Amino acid sequence: MSDKPKLAMYWASSCGGCEIATLNIHEHILDVDAVFDIAFFPCIADFKIKDVQGYPDGYIDVCLFNGAIRTSENEEMAHLLRQKSKVLVAFGSCAYEGCIPALSNLTTREATLNTVYLDNPTIDNPNRIFPQPVTEVPEGTLFLPVFYHTVKSLDQVVKVDYTIPGCPPEPHQIWAVLQAVVTALTQGVPLPPSGVVGASNVAVCEECPRQRNVKKIKRFYRPYEVVPDPDICLLEQGLMCLGIATRGGCGALCPQVGMGCRGCYGAVPGVEDQGAKMVTAIASVMDVGKPGELDEVKLEQEIEAIFDTIPDPAGTFYRFSMAHSILRRTRVNGYDRG
Ligand code: SF4
Repeated sequence: MSDKPKLAMYWASSCGGCEIATLNIHEHILDVDAVFDIAFFPCIADFKIKDVQGYPDGYIDVCLFNGAIRTSENEEMAHLLRQKSKVLVAFGSCAYEGCIPALSNLTTREATLNTVYLDNPTIDNPNRIFPQPVTEVPEGTLFLPVFYHTVKSLDQVVKVDYTIPGCPPEPHQIWAVLQAVVTALTQGVPLPPSGVVGASNVAVCEECPRQRNVKKIKRFYRPYEVVPDPDICLLEQGLMCLGIATRGGCGALCPQVGMGCRGCYGAVPGVEDQGAKMVTAIASVMDVGKPGELDEVKLEQEIEAIFDTIPDPAGTFYRFSMAHSILRRTRVNGYDRG
């Protein structure tokens, strides 16, 4: 290897979209190649874990770690890359706050494995075979990573220096962060203070061109049920949009094409629980009559009737943030850890 700064990117429990988004910085990928040596990037180059184990501590200048911590292998890699990296970045929603993998924190490990290996209609598994962490075969012992009960975010396992949110992060934001790192490394400019980078500090609503008129709604609709007005706030048309509870930086891309914000950049600064913030935001657009018009029982029925039109509220409000939420996971059959 040359004396160029070393860059690593690792993929734990995630879908691979973060790697695609990184390569989607177009011609700037040549700048990345010019400035960095790739020290570990299993998605695009043939590195082995023993290569990383052989590096001195702090050898990697910047490690972009994407994916949640779902298995013992994910956790071991988080510790190894923390030890070998000067700057560890939680890259994308899974590493930042658990994202889609952490929705399984709403159930148990056994229920998740049953769905995948038994109950799925496309599975034929008459002998009810499940992957085992340890299997003895004539040739020796085979090991598989342990599948954890609870999905964690990267910062719940090791210290994280920076977070780039998004599912996946927007390529222009990735490039802005890499550019800042390149400038810091080549010109001796200090890196920004640790925290969230590659995003804005205001809600998606602040970047959204749709007009908000404080209109009240009687029910929510699925996107296929209505053709939204192109200029009016989607939430005020009864279409679920988490823009009010979500950190901006994406440019409100989804609301601009008529699809409600799903919340992938995480909570707005200062908000601890994105889902709880969204529930309060919905309360502000519900049409349940004027104050004092309904008695308490009727009022509760009206509120419940509107909430009942939201399919899968937990999956809607905590789609990206379950591991990082106040709930973190639900207690099922006495489980709450592991
Ligand atoms: Fe735009 Fe959604 Fe905010 Fe409405 S709630 S202003 S559609 S981001």
